[in-house]
Amino acid sequence: MSEPSFRAGFVAIVGRPNVGKSTLTNALVGAKVSIVSRKQQTTRHRIHGIVTTDEAQIVLVDTPGFQTRHKRLLNRAMNQVVRQALADVDVVLFVIEAGRWMPEDARVLALLPQDRTVFLVINKVDRLKDKAALLPFIAARAKEFPYAEIIPISAERGRNLDDLQRTIIRYLPPGEPIYPPDQITDRNERFLASEYLREKVFRFLGDELPFGTAVEIRQYEEEGDLRRIWAEIIVEREAHKPIVIGERGERLKRIASEARQDLEALLGARVYLDVWVKVRSGWADDPRALRSLGLEP
Ligand code: GDP
Repeated sequence: MSEPSFRAGFVAIVGRPNVGKSTLTNALVGAKVSIVSRKQQTTRHRIHGIVTTDEAQIVLVDTPGFQTRHKRLLNRAMNQVVRQALADVDVVLFVIEAGRWMPEDARVLALLPQDRTVFLVINKVDRLKDKAALLPFIAARAKEFPYAEIIPISAERGRNLDDLQRTIIRYLPPGEPIYPPDQITDRNERFLASEYLREKVFRFLGDELPFGTAVEIRQYEEEGDLRRIWAEIIVEREAHKPIVIGERGERLKRIASEARQDLEALLGARVYLDVWVKVRSGWADDPRALRSLGLEP
């Protein structure tokens, strides 16, 4: 049996606030960006970051309830959401702090699916004064849950991240890249712009989103700290247009305005964003439109 030539899958990073989830995400992705997007076909997660190597693609997804931004504890209503979110990823990274096991960690542990691959990622090992203390700590954790792997790291110092990445890849299913590799250089501003806009379209249209809605960036100009972006939201039928535009253009205005604000925060630049809604019948035959929807032509 030969090794599959490529592996690809979804990875969720969970843990109580302050254990280093964002730091780890950034360290793995290699840039201080979080891609916010949602791909209809494959996952209901938002994409946090994508790591593509010669042999694999790791798609890091956001798990509701674990965002650092909302420092709130997991409450009961959240638990169901978390369980569902974790049910369809390939690997769960449960992040804790070296030498510290808190009641909140135990609460997160209780939510972890037994039938998924769960790694215990022990972060901040650089903080340990007595390295020998790590062994009994690991032994105690191993008794609590059938972790597939236990990996000590320092997300901040970049320690052992190669090992973590290699190990994650071993557990991903064989398959083609989920995102076309050329499209997802995480520094590709144009790509981020379309992802951000698409995310707003999804958010504001929700269930009303007509099938076949796509986002395309027509033109992208960079001028010092100003970005001029011309984008189109493409719908399949004339009748879909008013749904996207909303009453007196209110909905489209909000979609564009929120996408612009997010982009400005992300890029640290002023953004001029011009969004049009266009009807394109037969878009499904257009490979570019298909790609922008996240579908393979
Ligand atoms: P999150 O709430 O789980 O996303 O945690 P953050 O990534 O925001 O990190 C919380 C704090 O821990 C920040 O001050 C980080 O700088 C710090 N931190 C993260 N990783 C490490 C690490 O490997 N070593 C040390 N010493 N500090 C870390």
